[in-house]
Amino acid sequence: MSNFNRFGNMSPPEEIMRRSYLMAEDPFHMVGNVYFVGNTWCSSHLIDTGDGLILLDTPCLPELAYLLDGIWRLGFDPRQIKYIIVSHAHVDHYGAVRALVHLTGAKTFMGELDVADMAKAGERFERMNHEAGRFNESFQADVALKDGDVVELGNTKIRCVLTPGHTVGVMSHFWETEEDGKKYRVGIYGGAGFISLSEERLKECGLTMEMRDTFSRSIDKVWDEKVDVMLGNHPFHNDTYEKHERVLRGEKDAFIDPGEWRRYLQELRDRFADYRKLSQEEIGVMYQKSYFFVYRDKAIPFLEEPVPETMALP
Ligand SMILES: [Zn+2]
Repeated sequence: MSNFNRFGNMSPPEEIMRRSYLMAEDPFHMVGNVYFVGNTWCSSHLIDTGDGLILLDTPCLPELAYLLDGIWRLGFDPRQIKYIIVSHAHVDHYGAVRALVHLTGAKTFMGELDVADMAKAGERFERMNHEAGRFNESFQADVALKDGDVVELGNTKIRCVLTPGHTVGVMSHFWETEEDGKKYRVGIYGGAGFISLSEERLKECGLTMEMRDTFSRSIDKVWDEKVDVMLGNHPFHNDTYEKHERVLRGEKDAFIDPGEWRRYLQELRDRFADYRKLSQEEIGVMYQKSYFFVYRDKAIPFLEEPVPETMALP
């Protein structure tokens, strides 16, 4: 049993975090009105609704420049962002929200349980904000989403489904997009990592080991969703870059794969079953190795260069 997987340690090594420009990626069109504007570590998806843009997840604040650059390069103005939806209350998905709201005036949305958690546990969030680089900020969402809520703008209706486990208020999102007269259902699982399900982390969040069963039930809950295009809130969850490379090689429909949703959820189930058998020590070992290394080796040469102390993370 390998205890190394893409649902384990997703954070870039510190040497990369300190030089976050190494995570900048080209933006690109995915399918219909959906675009990728994320970085090597975290996905952000842009939806052109015809009546303004929806942004699904922001990067951390140090990576905001590359997000804005990507939006401009696709031919949009970041000020067209009307809604920002945050999948769950982890800094790698909301760190730049406040800055972006300041720049665009966008309205913000997050699951109500995560909204409440963030409001209540200020210090814990401050620690997390700091760990991912200076100046990340928590935020107060304008709209606290309930299970089944639909966020509508222009031609797009996004259904928000509560899938807790990774955090208490994770929301998964589903909507329909159209390309060449064909309709496709897009789906994204809101929080697929195990990092927050160790005994230690659960305790820190005031939760019990029961959260692990909650995590499993959330996978069951969305198993029957029909998804033609699976997005990932980390690019290595749906092989975003590999698919984009296939598009560039002429395979126009590389992002369309109706079987991927269940393959992914099954892998998540299997890996989680493995994870539940690990001891605290084994979990510790698992988190010493970042998945970052196996899927994007372009950054590895930089690890050899010493990083000046002045660039140390707080
Ligand atoms: Zn997370």
